[in-house]
Amino acid sequence: MRAEAVGFELALLLAGAALAGVLHLGGLPTAEALLLVLAAYLLRHLYLLWRLARFIQRQHRLAPPFPLGLWGELYRAVGRYQQRSRKGRKRQLRFQRRFREAANSVPDALVVLGKSQRIEWANPAAAEMLGVRWPDHEGRLLTEVCAQTGLGTYLEADEYARPLEVPAEHDQSIMLSIRVAPFGERKRQRLVVGRDITKIFHLNMIRRDFVANASHELRTPLTVIAGFVENLASSALTPEPHRRPLSLMENQTNRMRSIIEDLLTLSRLELEDAASNLTPVNLPQEIEQVVADARTLSAGKHDITLDLDHDLMLIGNQSELRSAVSNLVFNAVKHTPAGSHVRVWWQDEPVGPVLRVADDGPGIAPEHIPRITERFYRVDKARSRASGGTGLGLAIVKHVLSHHDAVLSIASEPGRGATFTCRFPAESRLRRTDQVPQLQVLRSG
Ligand code: ADP
Repeated sequence: MRAEAVGFELALLLAGAALAGVLHLGGLPTAEALLLVLAAYLLRHLYLLWRLARFIQRQHRLAPPFPLGLWGELYRAVGRYQQRSRKGRKRQLRFQRRFREAANSVPDALVVLGKSQRIEWANPAAAEMLGVRWPDHEGRLLTEVCAQTGLGTYLEADEYARPLEVPAEHDQSIMLSIRVAPFGERKRQRLVVGRDITKIFHLNMIRRDFVANASHELRTPLTVIAGFVENLASSALTPEPHRRPLSLMENQTNRMRSIIEDLLTLSRLELEDAASNLTPVNLPQEIEQVVADARTLSAGKHDITLDLDHDLMLIGNQSELRSAVSNLVFNAVKHTPAGSHVRVWWQDEPVGPVLRVADDGPGIAPEHIPRITERFYRVDKARSRASGGTGLGLAIVKHVLSHHDAVLSIASEPGRGATFTCRFPAESRLRRTDQVPQLQVLRSG
């Protein structure tokens, strides 16, 4: 109903009242008749307004019959709005129920933490795995309810790239992997996901032990064979036609020895999550020694330059770091042709110390870069073997860096060389002039 219609309605009523007054219908003078009509009109509006307010307040459903005129339209509109929101609420409840049913059937533990890290919701698996029961523990701090070792520190660290893998508190034979995913407004809420990884963990352990044991068992017989082959190859009594096959055998036994040594190194690295025996490592000195060996390997065919901050040391595991540096520098020599330039860079940056090994060799095609740190992954198998590669060098580098909370990034363009950058955390930097107190924070082996 438009405003004019309301005005017309009121005008009609008043005109009727005036006419009744003039004609003395009902025995009332004009003024009284007008007043009476106005009062009745106002009362009707007030009543309908009060009724609507009561309906809304008590959340009653507005149903026909609706009053006439403007109020009828208003009642109808409110009724339609109520119906729409009722449907929306029903849909929301249905979705909520289905989501809960789905989340309840997930075998992983799911816990939703609010902005202040308090428990908002958890599925039944969370009760079994983490001891978090919903709704009993709603509003409590997760660390208060779940005494899982390492969980408090993990949550506080606010760094969830790697999951927390720990034996379950209630049963040490169960291995748990706990992941945290921040979500919601400004990512202040957390979804904690706990998974039973006992099977995968044991399989991994069996695989690791198998590789370590097999490598170890092969090492002794191979040393004996290599010794005999070496003696025969260098003996003056060996007939000439046997010399070439013996030299080939010597090359192959040496290759096998390198593979076994690299496999054993990898197995040792896999045994621990973080580096042990941390000491202040004079990395510039280590780099210089590795580069001296690389120059011998290159036999003058490469131009190797150094750009080192000689005062910049690193807190880490010396033999692991040396192995990483030598793999990167030797790769730059092995995988580039004669005449190539190799640059080794060790400098401090605001975010932490950086080691960079760059060459201007053939580089690596982009499709290989994501896989290049996998075991035995080589861009060109035949060429890698010919250059004495085991295919394990970069896997070792990646493990060593992960032990030191460092990150490896590889930049390369085919034909324009490759750059391997290792970024170490700022806490691991040590200046030669720094005092010993820093050493108190070292992890012991
Ligand atoms: P490998 O023992 O074969 O060197 P790595 O794991 O060290 O094994 O390296 C894997 C592969 O990455 C190599 O086979 C090679 O194809 C490629 N690669 C590594 N470093 C370089 C480099 N500096 N330039 C070009 N390719 C490289």
